[in-house]
Amino acid sequence: MTIQQVSSFAAGDWVKPGKGAREIASAITGDPIAEAGNAALDAQAMLDHARDVGGPALRRMTFHDRARMLKALAIHLGQHKQALYDLSFDTGATQKDHLIDIDGGIGTLFVFASKGRREMPDGHVYLDGGVEQLSRDGSFLGQHVCTPLQGVGVHINAYNFPVWGMLEKLAPTILAGVPAIVKPATSTCYVTEACVRLMLEADILPAGALQFVAGGLGDMLDRLTCQDVVSFTGSAHTALKLRSAPHILENSVRFVAEQDSLNASILGPDADPDSPEFDLFVKEVCREMTAKAGQKCTAIRRIIAPNDRVEAVIEAVSARLAKTTIGDPRKETTRMGALVSASQKRDVLDKIAVLGREAERVFGNPDDFAVDGADPEKGAFLPPMLFHCADPDGAQRVHDTEAFGPVSTVMGYRDLDHAMALANRGEGSLVTSVITHDGDVARQAVLGAGAYHGRIYLNDRASMKESTGHGSPLPHMVHGGPGRAGGGEELGGVRGVTHYMQRTAVQGSPDHLTAIGGQWVPGAAEVKGPAHPFTRRFGELAIGETLHTAAREVTLEDIEHFAEFTGDTFYAHMDAEAAERNPFFPGRVAHGYLLISFAAGLFVEPAEGPVLANTGLDNLRFMKPVEPGDSVKVRLTVKKKTPRTEDYGEIRWHVTMTNQDDEQVAEYDLLTMNAY
Ligand code: NAP
Repeated sequence: MTIQQVSSFAAGDWVKPGKGAREIASAITGDPIAEAGNAALDAQAMLDHARDVGGPALRRMTFHDRARMLKALAIHLGQHKQALYDLSFDTGATQKDHLIDIDGGIGTLFVFASKGRREMPDGHVYLDGGVEQLSRDGSFLGQHVCTPLQGVGVHINAYNFPVWGMLEKLAPTILAGVPAIVKPATSTCYVTEACVRLMLEADILPAGALQFVAGGLGDMLDRLTCQDVVSFTGSAHTALKLRSAPHILENSVRFVAEQDSLNASILGPDADPDSPEFDLFVKEVCREMTAKAGQKCTAIRRIIAPNDRVEAVIEAVSARLAKTTIGDPRKETTRMGALVSASQKRDVLDKIAVLGREAERVFGNPDDFAVDGADPEKGAFLPPMLFHCADPDGAQRVHDTEAFGPVSTVMGYRDLDHAMALANRGEGSLVTSVITHDGDVARQAVLGAGAYHGRIYLNDRASMKESTGHGSPLPHMVHGGPGRAGGGEELGGVRGVTHYMQRTAVQGSPDHLTAIGGQWVPGAAEVKGPAHPFTRRFGELAIGETLHTAAREVTLEDIEHFAEFTGDTFYAHMDAEAAERNPFFPGRVAHGYLLISFAAGLFVEPAEGPVLANTGLDNLRFMKPVEPGDSVKVRLTVKKKTPRTEDYGEIRWHVTMTNQDDEQVAEYDLLTMNAY
């Protein structure tokens, strides 16, 4: 049998295992399959390569450029994922587990690619929030901006997700414009290496954007600066050791930690044994216990059920777990594969001995279970094991001992407050689920347990078909949790990208802010174009290009005509006395929608041209009523340009309508699609 030489990719070269290399065994057979690690790896050269070559190349690109690279990577990996599946079986994972790890990782790339194009600018600066008025006349303003850190993201991952674990960190890092050095856990790094090779062979990323360490990092962490980020996933023990290193503390190196978590699932007080929620609860619990053989940071470790339903839960969960076929993950009939290694199996056995002091094992016997198609003595197999803790208030270990395998403990609660108190005794976790059909229970759970959990997953008969599962961190949603879970936050859409950027409060004039953000800020200089802006193509329009229209008088006939035509005969437009009684109106006033229709009539260029469609209005405000006899005029300014497809892009126009006294009566952003 050939032993895979898992190489590192350092400063542009593949480096084979060398001094200090570690042997890696198959989770199924226990036979050695790979070796990884090389103590001679030059950590400083890798950091220099990332900082001097990868970072500048990434920062020259726009968010959209980088988003397009993520999409291309996702497509490429999707075309070659079979190779990753083939390798991954040796980690003990089944084909279903591969969907979580490999397809889940690719899906995460796609989501960040899409979010980068939709929610971030085709520029270099990400604006965080709106403009802050810092002066009376608007000549001095504030804006929070995010720019990429000028260092490197060092990603240290746990063994359980060799692909997703890498890609969920890589996607936001690359999108931010920061190069990454990826260090997976050694026990499954042969899968990660294959994925890195695929990405590098595709030649999509610029040189220096992605480097890879198989084995130990050497002294890399002692060489980091305030421009670097360590993003760590693994045990609390390792996290504490790494994050408390003097060099990390002295230099305030950002350290994001995702670590152990005693996640819980609560069966709502409303869910009787014959309700759809009860079945749903049992299914979710069993799925979380057996997927990845329970080696998921989000797996349900504590099953919290009303006291009078504890027995029914134990019975139903046990009956379902009894159907779990354990064995060679390559076999289609296998529902649960092996743990990653013999040492992980030992660790779980040690931990269940600890749990056994406070809870009784009511299902699953590690000394007596069937394994299909593999040798139970050689592979790291364990059966699902269910415990029951009769006194969860008096117990401690069931709330703080993470057996990272197919293990969970049932405990009973008196009322919802008690259930939340038990869930919160995990002292901070990644996710708690509440299976309830009662909105009040859901609300109380979020109020009572939100502060202790990074995610609260609610499910019931209405959402069960489409729900994504207790254990699935989604790229759109925050992943992380307080306290024991590490206090970190990853993903969460663009939030996850900003973890690799510096937020800076910028103060200055409207012209300064326009130049920095690439979008026109009211008060900044206007640009006079050579022709009506509706006759100009996407690429020709300049930020700040402005049209001032002629004025138009608004008459009572206009208002009555509009009211009858549209059916909007609201009293403020039709009944002078009633309108006067209203604190907002001096008398009969024009409809707001009439005004924005008049605005269009004033600024539109009717002939066929590059403006393809009006796709919406944002931030519409009516500031001052318009009475019959008033006249209105419009200023239309190119605020922001966003490429959308090969053929057209979106123009965001800033529109203000003023009256004959130059008082603002309405303001909004108009969106159009314009041909290139
Ligand atoms: P681990 O032993 O703490 O290892 C995690 C990572 O840290 C591995 O890549 C490991 O590399 C590396 N590491 C260890 N010592 C290091 C050092 N001195 N310097 C640099 N790197 C070092 O955890 P694990 O056994 O892989 O994973 C299981 C744990 O991860 C569980 O506790 C689980 O709860 C947690 N987890 C959390 C999440 C989450 O998102 N919160 C997700 C998955 C897993 P080597 O393998 O080379 O030692």
